[in-house]
Amino acid sequence: MHDFVVNLFSTGSFIPHGHCYLWKPGLVWLHIISDAIIALAYYSIPLTLFYFVRQRQDLPFSWIFLLFAAFIISCGTTHIAEIWTLWNPTYWLSGILKVATAIVSLFTAIELVALMPQALALPSPLQLKQANKALQAQIKERLQVEKQLRQLQEELEQRVQDRTAQLVRVNEQLQQEIDERYRAEVALLASRERLVLAQQVGKIGTYELNTQTKELIWTEEMEALYGLERGSFEDSYEHWLKLIHPDDRADAVLSVQRIITHGADLDTELRIMLPDGRIRWVATRAKMFCELGHSERLIGVNMDITEHKQVQQELQKTLQTLTTLINASPLPIVVIQPNMTVQLWSLAAEQLFGWSAAEVLGQPIPIIPQDKQDQFRQDPEALAKGEVFAGVETYHCKRDGSTLVVSVSTAPFYDEHHNFQSILLIFQDITEQQAIEQMKNEFISIVSHELRTPLTAIQGFLGLLNSGIYDNKPQKAKRMVEQALTNSDRLVRLVNDILDLERLSSGRVQLVKEVCNAADLMQRAVEGLQPIASLSAITISTPTNACVWADPDLIIQTLTNLLSNAIKFSPRDSMITLSAQPQGEWVLFAAKDQGRGIPADKLETIFERFEQVDVSDARAKGGTGLGLAICQSIIQQHDGSIWAESILGEGSTFYFTLPIPSRDNEQTHLGHR
Ligand code: ADP
Repeated sequence: MHDFVVNLFSTGSFIPHGHCYLWKPGLVWLHIISDAIIALAYYSIPLTLFYFVRQRQDLPFSWIFLLFAAFIISCGTTHIAEIWTLWNPTYWLSGILKVATAIVSLFTAIELVALMPQALALPSPLQLKQANKALQAQIKERLQVEKQLRQLQEELEQRVQDRTAQLVRVNEQLQQEIDERYRAEVALLASRERLVLAQQVGKIGTYELNTQTKELIWTEEMEALYGLERGSFEDSYEHWLKLIHPDDRADAVLSVQRIITHGADLDTELRIMLPDGRIRWVATRAKMFCELGHSERLIGVNMDITEHKQVQQELQKTLQTLTTLINASPLPIVVIQPNMTVQLWSLAAEQLFGWSAAEVLGQPIPIIPQDKQDQFRQDPEALAKGEVFAGVETYHCKRDGSTLVVSVSTAPFYDEHHNFQSILLIFQDITEQQAIEQMKNEFISIVSHELRTPLTAIQGFLGLLNSGIYDNKPQKAKRMVEQALTNSDRLVRLVNDILDLERLSSGRVQLVKEVCNAADLMQRAVEGLQPIASLSAITISTPTNACVWADPDLIIQTLTNLLSNAIKFSPRDSMITLSAQPQGEWVLFAAKDQGRGIPADKLETIFERFEQVDVSDARAKGGTGLGLAICQSIIQQHDGSIWAESILGEGSTFYFTLPIPSRDNEQTHLGHR
């Protein structure tokens, strides 16, 4: 082997190849350059092929390219050997290189032939182009389809998203509802628990009645309320009825019937009987419920109102007592609200004002008269504010339109919170009192005036006498004295009459009544009037047995007054008749004359004090104007009446009545005797 390698690289006896070219530089260089370029080209091609194969990994038969590369490199190497052998005649080596090249070339040629069918089977670039085109079209179509699909998918996805969002929303809502319901249920449970607690505390029993089966279900509170042992209620309507007080049972049945028939709410109060015999008041309230598919049910509550009822009854009693007291009071009592409407109107108020309670209750209080409103406007406002009045004098209307003078005292009512509620008004009718006061005042002024006239005259006459101007005129002085005496007579009469009248009207005269014979009375009156009675023809006409129950002195005084007037206001010797006629329980007395008569418009007023038809004439006749007033007062003290009838110029008749004695009066009278 060693020898082979040495031979291979030995030049031996060979001559360099350049000799063949005779070392002609041109020829040598031609070969050198050509072989060098071929060798370079042959070496570069495999590099390119190698690069190609590396880049095209998917290349089929890539190994044939590598084989080509090996073959070309071999060829290139032979050209390098050609350049080498120009100077170095290692022809064994170049031969070996050629052998290697020949083997590689041959192998490559054979492989190429063997590969040809497969290479031919590969698609041509045209085919590939067409296929590519078709592929492109397909791709385009696919892309379109894909695009459509994507669109569809997007739409679908959108829908799915929308639907999902909807579902999410619905889900959220549902969740919210569930939460709310849960919360409501929790709250309901809590409030139910509280309600149950409240029912226990408030002793409120709850029940449910099936209106068809009459099954009645109760809570424990109901049993406690009815004093029953736990679980002892029989759950039936009939059992419940048995527990109700017999007097209230019919009402209870009716109330339940009414709610079942008319659907109205049940709201009634009834008494129940506890097993230990006690009676308890309960308020029962219920409502009808009708659920779909269920029979109608009545759901209600029962409450213990015994204490409330007791308080109510006590209040009622107090109120009744109060109302009785108020109505029994002789003073009119009225209660008004701050808006001036009447809340209470006592019997005395009915009698005083004329309006019945039914007419004024809830109405504005009948107010003060129109013409007095300005004067009293302040008062109602002050009343409404609850101010207290004591004995305030004011005017009030009566139902008949007349006006009353009343004294009002007030007291405000307040509730437990000190809120002003109403005003109590207590009235006192002072109309008469005021009229009397007024009359008294007028009487005093008239009396003073009447007394002053004769007194002034007396004073005048005495003054004249005292002055001495009549000292030498005894006739005139005598007249002066007479005048003074006449006036003093009148003064005495006046004072006597005034005193009589005052004693009679003040009630200070104690009547001494007895059974009196009318004829006797008249006779004594006539006798007392002598001698003026002889101026007329006086006849007494009366049944002998006509008797009255009276104070004889006062009746004689009356008859004397009437008789003296008849004589005074009649011509001389005219007829005067005194008569007395029994009429049932009464005796009618009459004093009839044929005198000047009295004008019709004066017939009533002449009984008033100091009333005279013809003042100067009456005074000239010694009249005081008080005679008839005294007569009226005397007759009224005897419960009788007095009046006059007259025709002007023809005469007058004065009548008065006196009671006949009763059986008792007669017995008393006989007893006294
Ligand atoms: P007098 O003192 O003035 O008589 P009376 O009260 O007795 O007062 O009478 C009042 C008035 O009534 C008299 O002044 C008179 O005008 C009138 N009068 C009373 N009686 C009669 C009579 N019989 N005839 C006419 N007038 C009478």
